[in-house]
Amino acid sequence: MKRFVIYPGSFDPLTNGHVNIINRATKCFDEVVIAVAVNSNKNSILDIDERIRTIKEVFKKNKKIKVDRFEGLLVHYAKKKRIKTILRGMRTVQDFEYELQMARSNNILDPEIETIFMVSDANYSHISSSLIKDIIKLGGVAKAFIPKIVENELKKKLKKKV
Ligand code: ADP
Repeated sequence: MKRFVIYPGSFDPLTNGHVNIINRATKCFDEVVIAVAVNSNKNSILDIDERIRTIKEVFKKNKKIKVDRFEGLLVHYAKKKRIKTILRGMRTVQDFEYELQMARSNNILDPEIETIFMVSDANYSHISSSLIKDIIKLGGVAKAFIPKIVENELKKKLKKKV
């Protein structure tokens, strides 16, 4: 039986931390579905289509990785996809409380859904999408934290140094 997992998030933008988790997940699962949340957050740096396009481009050579979008409750999306496992990354204790709340709530909303966690590689545990956004907004250079394809997309969009 094939093992599927959903890796949900905002990915605004995709960082090297996300990439590390996704690549490691492909060693544990036959298919990893990166589910990009459609959120109309005014603070977003890339819109949903830009995020989807860049993530697809980053992983285009890996047939085990699929990229999709979802709106609304994650458990409804998981049911629709018939995937019962959700993967989340865990960086520091700061992630823990929020992740615990989400995992428990999702399991109550749909007891068939299990959330599993993969701890961040020490090299990436300091990276977050919001850090990238702050660096860029403050005029810094974020390329050490993001894939080249994401860097190019951000450059195109912001028409400045990334
Ligand atoms: P969300 O808005 O749902 O928190 P994110 O795009 O910020 O979505 O993150 C998606 C998932 O990736 C979350 O499980 C998050 O904890 C994890 N993650 C984010 N950054 C890193 C990182 N540097 N290393 C490992 N996991 C990470």
